[in-house]
Amino acid sequence: MNPFNDEYFMKQALVEARAAAAEGEVPVGAVIVCNNQIIARAHNQTERLNDPTAHAEMLAITAAVGVLGAKYLTGCSLYVTVEPCVMCAGAIGWAQISTIVYGASDEKRGFQQYAPKALHPKAVVRKGIMETACMEEMQNFFRQKR
Ligand SMILES: [Zn+2]
Repeated sequence: MNPFNDEYFMKQALVEARAAAAEGEVPVGAVIVCNNQIIARAHNQTERLNDPTAHAEMLAITAAVGVLGAKYLTGCSLYVTVEPCVMCAGAIGWAQISTIVYGASDEKRGFQQYAPKALHPKAVVRKGIMETACMEEMQNFFRQKR
C-alpha cells in the first residue's frame, strides 16, 4: 500500500487549514507535492498580511518555486482543502501544476464554474478527497464568527 496517497497529503493540507483557523483566518490550507515529498505548505493569510491575494494556494506556489528554483511546477501536485478560486486557478495554470486535488467544493467562488479552462490543458483534477473534514473546518469557522 502506498502511504503517500491523496488522503495522506490532504491531511497535511488540513493541518494548515487548522493553523489558519487558529489565527482567525478563513481555514484553507494547501501543500505542494513533488515526487511524494511536500515541498511547500501554506495557509490563508489574508488577515495577517492585509492582502486579499494571500490565499493558501498563492503562498504555496510562491514557496514551491523558491524551493525548486524553477518558474514552473510541472509534475507537482497541489492539495488544497477547498476548491481554488478563479485567481488561484489562474496562478495554478501559470505555474503549470500537473495535478490539483481539492476537498470541499466552493459553489460561489470556485473556479470550476467560472474558469474551468484556467488550468494547464493537461492538468488532472481530483475532488472530494476528505470532503467532509474540509467542509466542516469551514463551517465551524463561520459558525463561530456569527
Ligand atoms: Zn484563491
